[in-house]
Amino acid sequence: MEYTIGKKYKFEAAHQVRSQVRSPCLCHNIHGHSYTVEVILSSDKLDESDMVVDYGYLDDVVKPIIEKLDHSFLYADLDFTEFLEKCIVNDYRTTRIPGKSPTAENIAMYLLTEISSKLQKLPNSNNYTRLKIIVKETEKSFASVEKILK
Ligand SMILES: [Zn+2]
Repeated sequence: MEYTIGKKYKFEAAHQVRSQVRSPCLCHNIHGHSYTVEVILSSDKLDESDMVVDYGYLDDVVKPIIEKLDHSFLYADLDFTEFLEKCIVNDYRTTRIPGKSPTAENIAMYLLTEISSKLQKLPNSNNYTRLKIIVKETEKSFASVEKILK
């Protein structure tokens, strides 16, 4: 038996995707997205209130991570350019996404890593079985990653 909850979060950010496979690619241009993130958490037991976790507790973990990405230039290993240097020098908000390029897949993995490392702060976290992150760049496109927690 497994129970699952999910919550949506939103942020605005810019990035540049340098495809090593498809060229030319429009995504090579610096552009922005209104990202939607779905955080989906499963548990094999409900807590004392018959919940996987109170959404307020989930917000306590997820919102600070999302706020760090909001209105940020997301960059990765292939983005160490003059433009990025100018962003850093001018103290514009930037966030390094591990990987070659700040793709939706790598953003999803970044969020999975950040969120899963903080889940143990939540009550009854030893009941959690799975964490899934879905990152939507547009209405039609998304990437997801999933981690088995036990
Ligand atoms: Zn994009």
